[in-house]
Amino acid sequence: MSLVHLLIAGLVIAASSSSPGSRLILREISDQKDKAVELNTTNFDSVLKDTPAKYAVVEFFAHWCPACRNYKPHYEKVARLFNGPDAIHPGIVLMTRVDCAMKTNTKLCDKFSVSHYPMLFWGPPTKFVSGSWEPKKDKSEILVIDDGRTAERLLNWINKQIGSSYGLDDQKFKNEHALSNLTDYNQISQAVYDVEEATAEAFDIILAHKAIKSSETSASFIRFIQLLAAHHLSRRCRKGAAEILVNYDDLCPSGNCSYEKSGGNDTLGNFPICGKDVPRGYYMFCRGSKNDTRGFSCGLWVLMHSLSVRIEDGESHFAFTTICDFVNNFFMCDECRLHFNDMCLSVKTPFKKARDFVLWVWSTHNKVNERLMKDEASLGTGDPKFPKIIWPPKELCPLCYLSSNQKSIEWDHEHVYKFLKNYYGPKLVSLYKEKSVSRSKEETVSATEDLTVATNALVVPIGAALAIAIASCAFGALACYWRTQQKNRKPRRR
Ligand code: FAD
Repeated sequence: MSLVHLLIAGLVIAASSSSPGSRLILREISDQKDKAVELNTTNFDSVLKDTPAKYAVVEFFAHWCPACRNYKPHYEKVARLFNGPDAIHPGIVLMTRVDCAMKTNTKLCDKFSVSHYPMLFWGPPTKFVSGSWEPKKDKSEILVIDDGRTAERLLNWINKQIGSSYGLDDQKFKNEHALSNLTDYNQISQAVYDVEEATAEAFDIILAHKAIKSSETSASFIRFIQLLAAHHLSRRCRKGAAEILVNYDDLCPSGNCSYEKSGGNDTLGNFPICGKDVPRGYYMFCRGSKNDTRGFSCGLWVLMHSLSVRIEDGESHFAFTTICDFVNNFFMCDECRLHFNDMCLSVKTPFKKARDFVLWVWSTHNKVNERLMKDEASLGTGDPKFPKIIWPPKELCPLCYLSSNQKSIEWDHEHVYKFLKNYYGPKLVSLYKEKSVSRSKEETVSATEDLTVATNALVVPIGAALAIAIASCAFGALACYWRTQQKNRKPRRR
């Protein structure tokens, strides 16, 4: 029986001797899944290190403490705003709790000098990682929340810290804080999490549709996974992709994949491509201001751009055919797939330079933008905060423009290329880099290993290279075939 079940069972027993009002609260608790993330000695550092959230609240409590039990509905009311796939304001504050009554957590609670229950702390998540707190320590970025006794007071305290005006009654997308300044160069760094999210979502869609149906789709899937294993910006995803490659023969014997997420180990569903915590259920940079805009398809574009700037000249045509085939076989939006395939087929000469491929993805995306600009204006289906534009706007890259008028733009392709390389290269992963600043050397190394910072796109990480080498053995014959075909290969017409 889990701790949550035990706690609920205890609360139900307690409820039989309490007032009808408190019974109602208890029923509410047991009816809903807790939103605050349970932390313990084992997962404390990893959860706080991996979260996209800028801030964290850590509640130290003891499950036997009656005040903590009464406080839980208040804490959960605030947690529901920030945590989980249905969060109203996701990715801003991570709400967590640690049960100090569990013997295994004693050292952790001691490190934060927990003197009473519940005791709440606030700070940037990375400051908690391998962190500590002492009562009279000056200049600590970890603060004790001294006025959070009710949900209202806790939210007020948080609002004061970050200058926000969140309310307990906020509804999804009503009080929207989506990033909407299209000209802010720094915002792309938030998309680092979206690239992982879109990768995992694409993988889940393939599983849900049992989409590897033939030797052709199987080959297309393997090629895409190879590309991810070598060049995905996140080490988690590169590792996951390499593991799928290594095990592919067992997971999909003769192309017949088993997709279940439970049961034995030999199923594709048991190999979460970016680790078990992703998809998280929400997007950051790609979050729309409406429920049904942006999200996955935005994340997929950013993934494609980020891959394009990370490949070498010799891989450019392989990357091109791989992405074309992947969209054609696995992007379950018929109109998108068909339009994109037409644009793939219009490429008559194999790419020799990575630069040409980077610019091809960019101009193809702009062609889609141009078409959708008209469609969305006439149908009113666009996101009002994110109208389609020919990209990048002048404010983002003035040097990209040689000249422009209302009808046409003359681009300086050299500058566009440089801009894309930096924007989807180092800039995209800069947030993660910043997060690791001010940590110890070892911590920084381990953090940057998780979500890499493969800023030099041309270097294949050793781990991935090793995994690919192993995978190459397993798929040697296939890989050999691809390589010989690669140069002349053209996207297939459907
Ligand atoms: P997106 O167009 O998704 O762009 C995401 C982000 O990328 C933008 O916010 C911007 O920061 C950046 N960006 C924008 N343009 C460029 C560029 N040229 N180069 C580099 N970066 C850029 N929808 C349809 O309705 N019909 C289609 O036929 C269709 N085809 C698609 C084909 C593919 C392969 C994909 C991945 C998506 C397709 N979509 C299509 C979805 C559509 O392109 C958008 O993804 C979706 O409308 C969400 O738009 P968005 O505002 O999030 O911005």
